[in-house]
Amino acid sequence: MKYISIGQKRQRVTLSEGVFKGLSDEGTLFMPEAIPVLDKTFYSRFHDMSLPEIALNVLLPYVENELGRENLKKIVEETFSFPIPLVKIHDNINVLELFHGPTQAFKDVGARFLSRLMSKLYPNQGKKMIILTATSGDTGGAVAHGFHRVPGIEVVVLYPQGKISPYQENQMTSLGHNIHAIAVEGVFDDCQRLVKQAFNDPSLRKDVSITSANSINLGRLLPQMVYYFFGVAAIQRKFPNLKPVICVPSGNFGNITAAVMASRMGLPVNRFIAATNVNDVVPRFLRTGRYEPHKTIETYANAMDVGDPSNFPRLFYLFKNELEELRKMFSAKVITNEEIIKTIQMVFQQHHYLLDPHSSTGYLGLKQSLQKDENGFFISTAHPIKFVEIIEKVLPQEADRLKKSFSYGVGSSTQLEKMPVSYKALKNKLISL
Ligand SMILES: *Cc1c(COP(=O)(O)O)cnc(C)c1O
Repeated sequence: MKYISIGQKRQRVTLSEGVFKGLSDEGTLFMPEAIPVLDKTFYSRFHDMSLPEIALNVLLPYVENELGRENLKKIVEETFSFPIPLVKIHDNINVLELFHGPTQAFKDVGARFLSRLMSKLYPNQGKKMIILTATSGDTGGAVAHGFHRVPGIEVVVLYPQGKISPYQENQMTSLGHNIHAIAVEGVFDDCQRLVKQAFNDPSLRKDVSITSANSINLGRLLPQMVYYFFGVAAIQRKFPNLKPVICVPSGNFGNITAAVMASRMGLPVNRFIAATNVNDVVPRFLRTGRYEPHKTIETYANAMDVGDPSNFPRLFYLFKNELEELRKMFSAKVITNEEIIKTIQMVFQQHHYLLDPHSSTGYLGLKQSLQKDENGFFISTAHPIKFVEIIEKVLPQEADRLKKSFSYGVGSSTQLEKMPVSYKALKNKLISL
């Protein structure tokens, strides 16, 4: 398998090049050159497979020539080592829980896979490599945990100061060793811009080997396909032959892009719904045909506070960059802050299920558009403990119970490292490592 950039030049690279470059020379994203359709034998058996077995089958065509089957087998066993259950909430609405990993967010899947992929593929073990990434909350923790104490790799995570939950901040800043989490005095888009600037700075890249672990990285995108197979298998065990509707809480649109790629591999899915908060660039595009990035708006679902979704070009590319094609299989719902907390309250009171603010958009997005004769699941992208400050607003007793069971706040006395929104400051930091 080769990978191509989706810009004008269609730069063709190996998996290894794609993973370590992050972006093509002209700054565009990489995609697999072709998406293989899995054969009938796989689809007749995948309902009975374990997660690592599914992962091995789904990912092998993408990595086999560079990684080999045995290496992949080892990596998927380490990556998919926590449960991903499908839980019925009520009627035809189910949830695929992706928060049982070490940092309680779906990003653990991509980050764990990527870290192990990189350490297997890294060509130059002598030279120090820096993972540079921006986070609106969950990426940082997942990446930090994924790479913690991996020899020869330093990790620099930029996050917007004061804009992520204390629990998330603690997950990144408490690790130490090779993990450098830096609070940037700005918003997420500032962090993302600084990272892009570093990648586009040849004078920096001459001296240090930097690479991205953001959701633009192929090594994160690919493994995210796997759990959609697992979710569809679980729903089809209850309702054979059903093509479910899938709703994904979306920010940078990487997770939902992986879902669409899974369907191109032959996974039966009826249609896709992206749930967003009021950062509604994509829903607006679907409505008006105009793609207009805007400044980030802060919401309760802050891991989805993205004003210029970095993975959207990939998604659009899968639909031949044609709006009408996209609209056939794909819709979007915008969920306001008020709806987010009302839904958390209502679903808990009526169905005894506690949603985090991101999963709340997923639930409501699915509920609002699911027809009676359809069945579907949404992705629960984070555990409610990570956003307990929001839960507290509507369910104070539940929030207390959560905090007690997670020994919340313990060990958060770390000295925080701060940085202004300045490329020069970032560059100095990177060179000093
Ligand atoms: C990152 C994240 C999202 C958004 O995922 P994308 O792939 O960026 O669309 C949603 N919810 C949570 C909790 C996240 O951490």
